[in-house]
Amino acid sequence: MQNSEIKTTCSYCGVGCGIIVTKDATNGVMVKGDQDHPVNRGMLCSKGMNLHYVANDTSDRILYPEMRWSKSHPMERVSWDDGLDRAAAVFSSIIKKHGPDSVGFYISGQCLTEEYYLVNKLVKGFLKTNNIDTNSRLCMSSAVAGYKKTFGEDSVPIAYDDIELADTFLITGANPAWCHPILFRRLEQHREKNPKVKVIVIDPRKTDTALTADLHLQILPGSDIILYHAMAKRIIEKGYTDNNFIRKHTENFEAYKNLVLSTSLEKASQLCGISIKEIDLAVDLIGKAEGFLSLWAMGLNQSAVGVDKNTALLNISLLTGHVGKPGSGPFSLTGQPNAMGGREVGGMANLLAVHRELANPEHRQEVADFWGVDSISEKPGLTATEMFEALASGKMKAIWIICTNPMVSLPDSRRVEKALKNAKFVVVQEISHHADTAKFADLLLPAAGWLEKDGTMTNSERRISYLPKGINAPGEALADIEILTRFAKKMGFTGFNFNTAEEVYKEYCQMTKNTNIDISYLNYNRLKYEGTFQWPVPDYGHPGTPRLFTDRKFYTPSQKAIFNLPATIENTSEKPNDKFPFILTTGRIRDQWHTMTKTGKVSRLLSHIPNPLLEINPIDAFKTGIENGDVVVISSKNGDVRVKANVTDTIKEGVVFLPMHWGKQLENDLNRANNLTNTLVDPISKEPDFKYTAVAVKKY
Ligand code: SF4
Repeated sequence: MQNSEIKTTCSYCGVGCGIIVTKDATNGVMVKGDQDHPVNRGMLCSKGMNLHYVANDTSDRILYPEMRWSKSHPMERVSWDDGLDRAAAVFSSIIKKHGPDSVGFYISGQCLTEEYYLVNKLVKGFLKTNNIDTNSRLCMSSAVAGYKKTFGEDSVPIAYDDIELADTFLITGANPAWCHPILFRRLEQHREKNPKVKVIVIDPRKTDTALTADLHLQILPGSDIILYHAMAKRIIEKGYTDNNFIRKHTENFEAYKNLVLSTSLEKASQLCGISIKEIDLAVDLIGKAEGFLSLWAMGLNQSAVGVDKNTALLNISLLTGHVGKPGSGPFSLTGQPNAMGGREVGGMANLLAVHRELANPEHRQEVADFWGVDSISEKPGLTATEMFEALASGKMKAIWIICTNPMVSLPDSRRVEKALKNAKFVVVQEISHHADTAKFADLLLPAAGWLEKDGTMTNSERRISYLPKGINAPGEALADIEILTRFAKKMGFTGFNFNTAEEVYKEYCQMTKNTNIDISYLNYNRLKYEGTFQWPVPDYGHPGTPRLFTDRKFYTPSQKAIFNLPATIENTSEKPNDKFPFILTTGRIRDQWHTMTKTGKVSRLLSHIPNPLLEINPIDAFKTGIENGDVVVISSKNGDVRVKANVTDTIKEGVVFLPMHWGKQLENDLNRANNLTNTLVDPISKEPDFKYTAVAVKKY
C-alpha cells in the first residue's frame, strides 16, 4: 500500500460507510471509520470495524486456478491461460451445439460497477444471451419493479440526510438496527436530539429495531398489502391526504381510492393480527408528519407478492404527498454494497445498461450500437432461480458464477445442488474455499477481493464512491475485470481492450449521457479528489443530486407518479396446514454477512451468535413440548434443518425464524435454512418468497 492511509468504502451492506485503511506494524491492514465521510461520519458497525481481519487472513483464499478434465477427474492446478482456454473452448462448443441460451452467468451485488458492466457487455452483447442475473434478484428486484411501476424508473428518491429532516419513520419488513446499523444509529441520534420524532415498526418479530419503536405493529407474515390499504383508508377518511399533490402529480387515484375505501378494517385487523386502534395510531402519526420516511427491506421484497407490497407502500407516500421534499420519501434499504451500481449497468436478466429496457427495441438497438454489435437478443434472460431450474432440467448446460454462493443463498438448496451436479460445466470465480458452491466447480478461478483491486460502487442513496487498490491479491488471484477481459479475448471478441477498471468506467459513463442517471461528467479523478457523488451528475461543475423529484416531475410518460393496484391483496404463498403448521421466515443476524465466507472467519463476530438458533414463541414451544436449548427438527416439503431452539416471546405465535447464513462448509447442511425454503417467486420481480414457508417443528 502506498503512503500511510487510503480512503475506501465498506464492502458489506448498501449503507456504504467510508473507511480509512492504514498499515499496522506487521504489514497487515487496520481499518477505522472515516470522520469526513458524509454517510457514517466516522462510525462503523461490528462488521465494518472488523474488515481488516478479512483482508489480513488469507488462509482460506483460492490462490491459483484449478480445473478438472471431467466430473470423474480430481481438480488440478492449471495456469490462467490453460484454464481460460478451456473455458472459452467449452463455452464456444456448448453455444455452437445448443445455442447461446444454453449458457448463463450468475453474479453478485458485491461486484464493482465496472465488473458488472463488463460481464453484461460480454454476455448480452457478445455471447448473445440475456442469461445473466445477479443475487440482487434475491434482494432488491421487487423494490426495483415497484419504483418502476410508481415513478417510471428504478429511482430511490431520498438522501440519507433526509433522516435528520424527518419527524416520522415507518420501518417495515426491515431490521436496520442489525442489518443497516449506521443508518439506524443516525436515526437514533436524530431522535435523541428531537424527542418529537416518532418511529413506527411493522414486523412479525420484536427485533432490536422494533424494541425502540414508539409503535410496533407485530404483523402476521404476508398480510402487508391489506395493512397498507387499511392505513390508506383511514388516511383518506381522516383527511390526511395531500390533495394538491394527488391532483397535480399522480395518476389513477380514483381507482386506488375506491379499492382502499372498500377495505374492511375488521377483516384487515384479523388478517394482520393488528388492532384497528393500532392502525389508527400509526395513521395519526403519519398523517400529522411534516417529514415522513418509509424504510423497508427484505420483509417486503422477498415475497410471492413482493412487487404489490412495494407499490402498496409507495402509495402511502403518494397519498400524503411525501415525495421529493426534504425529510420525506420512500427509502428502500439495499442489502448489498453495490446492488444499485449493478442495476445501473443493467445487471439483471431483464435490464439493459443505464436503466434501458430489454423489452424496448429502440433501447436494445441503442445499446447494440454503443457496443458495436448488430443486435441484442430480445428474449428475456433466465432469472436467478430460473437458471438453476434450467440447469437441473438440462436446458442450460453451463454456468459461470462470480462472487456469490448459491449453494447456501438460493431457495431450496437441494434443487441448487441437483442443478450444479447436472451442469456440464461450472465455472466458479471466487475468493474463498469456504464458499460451498466452489466444490461443484469444474473450473475454479481465484479472484481478488476488497482492497485488492479498484473500482466504484453505488450505495442505497445513489452515492457513488471510488474504492482504490491498497494491497496485492494473494497467490495468482486476479481482479475480476482482468479475468473477464482475458476470457473475452480468448473468445475472439473485440471491444474488450481494457487495461484498467478506469477505462471500463469511462466507457460506461459515456453511455449514461442524457439519461436520468447521467454521470457522463463523472470520472475517477473527481471521485478520488472531490469525494463521493449522488447521481445524476450531468455537468462538470455539478455537485451531484441528493434528492430526486423535487420538481414533482416523475419518469413516467405523463411525468406523474402512478397509484398502482395490486393483482391481489391476499398473500399467494403456500399456507400452513396440519402437516406444516408454522410459518418460517428467514433473515440475517447482526454480525454475519450473507453466507459467512468473510464474517464467518472472524471470531469476534462469531461470538455474538455462534450457531444458528430457531426462534419460537413460548406458546408454540409449550404446545410442541420444546424447551429453550432443545435440539429441534424443522421440516418443510423440501427438506430438514436441525438446530437448537431459542424460545422467545420476541416472535409472534405461529411464526418461527431461522438465520440464513450457515452452510455446509462451516458446519453441516442441517444448519442451512434454505434446505426448507419454498420455490415460489413474485410473478413480476421473480424474487423468491424467503419470508413465508410452511414448516413443522418437533423436538429431536
Ligand atoms: Fe459496513 Fe454496512 Fe456496517 Fe456501514 S453499516 S460499516 S457499510 S456493514
